[in-house]
Amino acid sequence: MPQFFLPLDGPIPPRTFRLSGSEAFHLSQVLRVKPGEEVSFFDGKGGRYEGIVEAVHEDGSVSGRIVSSSQGPQAAAVVRLYQGLLKAGHWELVLEKATELGVASLTPVLTPRTVVLLREERAKAKQERWGRIVLSAAKQCQRASLPELRAAAEFRDAIRARPSGDGVVAAVAWEGLCGQTARKALGEALRRASPVSEVQLFVGPEGGFSDEEIELARATGAVIFGLGPRILRAETAALAALSIVQYELGEL
Ligand code: SAH
Repeated sequence: MPQFFLPLDGPIPPRTFRLSGSEAFHLSQVLRVKPGEEVSFFDGKGGRYEGIVEAVHEDGSVSGRIVSSSQGPQAAAVVRLYQGLLKAGHWELVLEKATELGVASLTPVLTPRTVVLLREERAKAKQERWGRIVLSAAKQCQRASLPELRAAAEFRDAIRARPSGDGVVAAVAWEGLCGQTARKALGEALRRASPVSEVQLFVGPEGGFSDEEIELARATGAVIFGLGPRILRAETAALAALSIVQYELGEL
């Protein structure tokens, strides 16, 4: 049985639960859960709970008691993806797969070469849809935490405002270094900064990064790296780079 999302606003660990909305629908209508059955929960912040169903209510909500709690595994380092905003299908693929690959946060990045516009009037609906994709990926891959979906930011602001310091690595994938392997610049930067506490990974939009953007990134201390001899689609580049980072951190 999958784990269910239990948002908490009371004491931790909770003593009881009451699920409503789509999570309850999944439990009561799809899985047809009955009183006495066990259900696993995660709170999106690293907590895991086991519960026993006591009642399935007329309105479809499900309630019961929590019988045990634990903390999910602590990641070696915080990995943040700053991804040039992509067309919907590609963007959603990145949301889902980056969640599986353990990112702590996702920031849509805007550049003059971004071909997708974020329209103000649709921003809320989009955020909700993205939230649902991330939640369903987190449930499926049994993460205890939910990645944070941050507000869109201009690349030049995001690269300047990023936290820096010992153990923090900022890395920008640049097709201009196509031909250089990731083992080189990216791998070396991660090994040099060990123990790494945070990785900020920047991947461009479909149109790529401009030379000025790469110069700005370099000036802020970010490492610029290549991903081998082929030019990858942005979503492939993001997932390849994330896999390499997590492998180097011992998370894959
Ligand atoms: N339109 C560009 C390609 C952009 S690819 C062109 O044709 O030149 C989209 C993003 O994926 C890039 O901005 C970069 O961040 C990443 N990327 C793709 N292939 C890469 C490679 N071989 N090395 C490093 N980054 C790469």
